[in-house]
Amino acid sequence: MSLLVDAGHVVWIRPSTDEGDLPPDVHVIDAGGSTIVPGMIDAHSHVTLPGGSHWIDRGADPPEELLEVAEHNGDLLGRAGVRWARDVGSPLAADPRDGRRRALALRVRERWQSDTNRPRIRVAGTWIGHSGVLTGGLAIEADDGPALLKAASTQLDDGADFLKLYLDGPKKEEAPWSTEDVRAVVELAHGRGAKVTAHSGFLVGARVGIDAGVDSLEHGFELDSDAVAKMARQGTFLVSTLAIFRSWASFGQTTTLPRFVTDEGKERIAHRRERAIESVRLAYRAGVRIATGTDFGGGSLRANHLAWEVEALVEAGLRPWEALASATLRGGELLGEGQAGRIVEGGPADFFLVHGDPLNDPTALWRVWRVAWLDGSTGRRT
Ligand SMILES: [Zn+2]
Repeated sequence: MSLLVDAGHVVWIRPSTDEGDLPPDVHVIDAGGSTIVPGMIDAHSHVTLPGGSHWIDRGADPPEELLEVAEHNGDLLGRAGVRWARDVGSPLAADPRDGRRRALALRVRERWQSDTNRPRIRVAGTWIGHSGVLTGGLAIEADDGPALLKAASTQLDDGADFLKLYLDGPKKEEAPWSTEDVRAVVELAHGRGAKVTAHSGFLVGARVGIDAGVDSLEHGFELDSDAVAKMARQGTFLVSTLAIFRSWASFGQTTTLPRFVTDEGKERIAHRRERAIESVRLAYRAGVRIATGTDFGGGSLRANHLAWEVEALVEAGLRPWEALASATLRGGELLGEGQAGRIVEGGPADFFLVHGDPLNDPTALWRVWRVAWLDGSTGRRT
């Protein structure tokens, strides 16, 4: 195939044997042997945080350092073929312009808006959680319905594109808020044109989120057949983050941290991993729309690891082309960005080139050769 790009847009896509007349000044790039892939969407990311085995500690680093981390992440994302990042939580930091504490990723969004080399991002503001759940003062805490509604409203006032609720409670067998409390937040957000997503590690919280009509569940590590059936009926997205467990398993070899290296720790991780894979498998079979993300920064993955998650989705039962769709098309649908994760004539030249066939082999996504939006926007690729 040949593809003509001009001024950052795809002019046409044609068989190489039937290109027609080419513009006189065209710059031809011989991409022989590679595959054109739509720029991916990391639908669960934390652009201000670095990840790694001490990911939780890094959340307390000074804001100036985290802004530098974001630039490094922006670079890593692009080089890995990720065009869009959906930021689902960043620490609060005083904004030097007015001294108000706001989610740091909002500032990153502003910085990146006019920089074509950086990923396009949508930002959830900061986490909203019940007290006693998220440590390190990262989250805005809300212990009842009115406090929850107020926290949600403040995030939207600050400029968050959507809301992120933390639906794990202080006790794993209890949800932090009632269905009615969460539904009030969903109504508020929808009334203001914003979506609501919810972190869900355990079934009881997942049920509250689904019943309250949140737009998506993050992780969904513990879903059952009733939950996924209702998600499919309502159109609730699942954003998978299974590669976390692959990363933790690797820390059994590369760290000395007890929760990764002891037999007990390894067993606990293996058990949670199995349950999480089962949840995604159930969701897939029920027809739930599955978008996907690395959880880099908020978890231990790094910003250039989305291929790992696509591999994990294949392990959970998706066919490779469906797993790739989760990292492209589905992410675009979740964001409500019709052109994200697609390559169409007239659309943005947001694609990259890999070696191998990612429709059959997710590991091809690790073998990025060129990234159209980083390597200049004019040219023909064959
Ligand atoms: Zn996360």
